[in-house]
Amino acid sequence: MTDKLITVKEVSLNNNCPECYSTDGLTLTFKQKFKETKFYRSITNEVVEELKCNKCQSTIYPVSWTDAIDRVVDYQKKAFVPKPASLKLKRLAWIIFIVIDLITLLVILMLLFPEVLGMS
Ligand SMILES: [Zn+2]
Repeated sequence: MTDKLITVKEVSLNNNCPECYSTDGLTLTFKQKFKETKFYRSITNEVVEELKCNKCQSTIYPVSWTDAIDRVVDYQKKAFVPKPASLKLKRLAWIIFIVIDLITLLVILMLLFPEVLGMS
């Protein structure tokens, strides 16, 4: 099973970068966790925020956020609407379901009409 993060929203912030003090480099990215297995692909409710500066190419961790950044991130978090959690079955899952259905049907037929299948 693989967990991936997909970018759902990107917001440019006007705050000073704590690293290079540039005011037009900060970008807040919202990423949502996405799970993928052989059977299904699903989007979870788990959201991760990441703050990056495009000027100095550094990731700004919450430890070094200023109060102003904290406030803006908080505001953006409230305004952010995540993608609804969803689950999408892959073809393999459908094939397995169909096979299970067919087997169930066969078992029922065998129980109801054993003579048809020469089982009596
Ligand atoms: Zn910077």
